[in-house]
Amino acid sequence: MPEYERHDYDVIVIGAGGAGLRAAIEASARGCRTALVCKSLLGKAHTVMAEGGIAAALGNVWPQDNWEVHFRDTMRGGKMLNNWRMAQLHAQEAPERVRELEEWGALFDRTNDGRILQRDFGGHRYARLAHVGDRTGLELIRTLQQHAVHKGIDVFMECTVTRLLKDGDRVSGAVAYWRESGNLVVFAAKAVVLATGGVGKAFAVTSNSWEYTGDGHALAYEAGAELIDMECVQFHPTGMVWPPSVRGILVTEGVRGDGGTLRNSDGERFMFDYIPDFFRAETADTVAEADAWYEDKENNRRTPDLLPRDEVARAINAEVKAGRGSPHGGVFLDIAARRPAEYIRRRLPSMYHQFKQLADVDITAQSMEVGPTMHYIMGGVRVDADTAATTVPGLFAAGECAGGMHGANRLGGNSLSDLVVFGRRAGMGAAADAAAVDAPAVDDAQVEAVAAEMNAPFAREDGEGPYDIQRDLQETMHTLAGIIRTEAELLEARERIAALRERAARVRVHGHRQYNPGWHLALDLPALLTVSEATARAANLRRESRGGHTRDDYPDPDDGWGGRNVVVRRGADGAMDVSTAPLPEMPAELRRLFEE
Ligand SMILES: Cc1cc2nc3c(=O)[nH]c(=O)nc-3n(C[C@H](O)[C@H](O)[C@H](O)COP(=O)(O)OP(=O)(O)OC[C@H]3O[C@@H](n4cnc5c(N)ncnc54)[C@H](O)[C@@H]3O)c2cc1C
Repeated sequence: MPEYERHDYDVIVIGAGGAGLRAAIEASARGCRTALVCKSLLGKAHTVMAEGGIAAALGNVWPQDNWEVHFRDTMRGGKMLNNWRMAQLHAQEAPERVRELEEWGALFDRTNDGRILQRDFGGHRYARLAHVGDRTGLELIRTLQQHAVHKGIDVFMECTVTRLLKDGDRVSGAVAYWRESGNLVVFAAKAVVLATGGVGKAFAVTSNSWEYTGDGHALAYEAGAELIDMECVQFHPTGMVWPPSVRGILVTEGVRGDGGTLRNSDGERFMFDYIPDFFRAETADTVAEADAWYEDKENNRRTPDLLPRDEVARAINAEVKAGRGSPHGGVFLDIAARRPAEYIRRRLPSMYHQFKQLADVDITAQSMEVGPTMHYIMGGVRVDADTAATTVPGLFAAGECAGGMHGANRLGGNSLSDLVVFGRRAGMGAAADAAAVDAPAVDDAQVEAVAAEMNAPFAREDGEGPYDIQRDLQETMHTLAGIIRTEAELLEARERIAALRERAARVRVHGHRQYNPGWHLALDLPALLTVSEATARAANLRRESRGGHTRDDYPDPDDGWGGRNVVVRRGADGAMDVSTAPLPEMPAELRRLFEE
């Protein structure tokens, strides 16, 4: 039996981003002995990178705004594939969660009369994003972290969870390792919350950080939970394209929200050629009308530069393909022509420094070059809307690793609000569940099997290192399961992923267990491969285009498919099983919002 340290808790939360912190705060507030486990330092979770803001119908800038309009925008942005109940709870509870953040010390930017200021973002009918310049995630994390620390929650940082433990059908804890020493840690827990974020590192060009290797998705899948809509991957329209070393880094939608416009190499405002019927009624169809909206929002027909992200990303892709791209394969984004330098530096300080330092571009005087970058996965662990419970007893999920809330495409700003709304609900759900069960048993045989698997890469005499395998996977996903897909490409992606799995099964690492990044990546590979296979298979099954899933061979939405989730689970034979299930039916009183 390998040596390990053991910790017993009522609830463990895996992940210390916005969702994990909020879940841990709630579980602790409800009397649970709670631990927070995260693979980076506390405060370094991906949430810290969020720029533009948190969406909530506070109605501070537009008094007409309310939860029903936010709900409708979210569903329409998600192309109606959202779990309606999650979208409803999110729209109803987001304002309360934002005010709670303020009570806990978050300092949002202000209107002239001292209320929380809200900015425009794509797909939102009204200016709705509470923000702190373009550093909103930092304020959110700072506030939640401070609150969590004062609650006395135990934090295990730089500690990576590799497997969930089961006691019969129930999840009973997790196996992890300290990144610094490589030593094993076992958590026994009555309930476990997954809040591990996304999957960006499966793609070659991404705005996501190193942590996003799909761990929570894969941990849930291995434990028997279901994943839904893994084909729905968001490519943010504006990532940096130059220089190559920073390709993919995000350029916040706040640039367009604050006045920035997109142009092609002919200087044309090309977005006017890409307005879908779905949004035509509320989108300006002449440059003059759009410019009037920027200056005087009373006219209320929004610029097409702020259509939902899937629409803008596809339009940029089409312009570049048609030979009207910028010198480095993107398009131009310009805010200097419309706003004074002082305004740009005050509203978008991170963007100003990012371009100055990384690309030697002064955005107060010059255009930026931007193009699509993999940004967010809408697909994730299937959960109950009210409790965040997965289909496995004792297991909960919230934040980017959970599915359903955003349907086929997420609106900007709706992730930060999702984290605090459903983080809280996951904490509540886990606390209630933990109160109803006895302390779980930890099965040493399961721990031993995980430990043996983790050590295997050191023992191999041949085999290759993990970096080439990850690079080949990223290239495969980018070229064959990326922004535009076809059946032939997706089948090829599946074959290549199967071959990569064989290579990963023989992965070899050198050295010892103390801080060994090669070994850490070797341990991340199975999760990266699982989420990639799930995306490729689900994308092949969904024979239509919807939101973040675009099929060149099925270019239109299909009503039949629009009513179904694609569900991925582990089959009895261990192979991946992909099927469909009907969406929960929306009640008539909410349906009426789309008929008005
Ligand atoms: C550049 C950028 C800007 C963005 N801007 C906005 C915005 O303005 N508004 C908005 O709404 N959304 C924005 N988003 C999206 C949003 O930031 C994310 O979707 C959100 O922060 C995810 O939060 P989370 O709590 O689910 O996960 P994260 O914040 O990523 O936290 C994940 C946590 O899980 C831990 N973890 C992962 N795997 C393991 C493991 N195996 N063991 C232990 N711990 C693990 C990590 O260490 C981390 O602590 C942006 C995203 C990016 C990339």
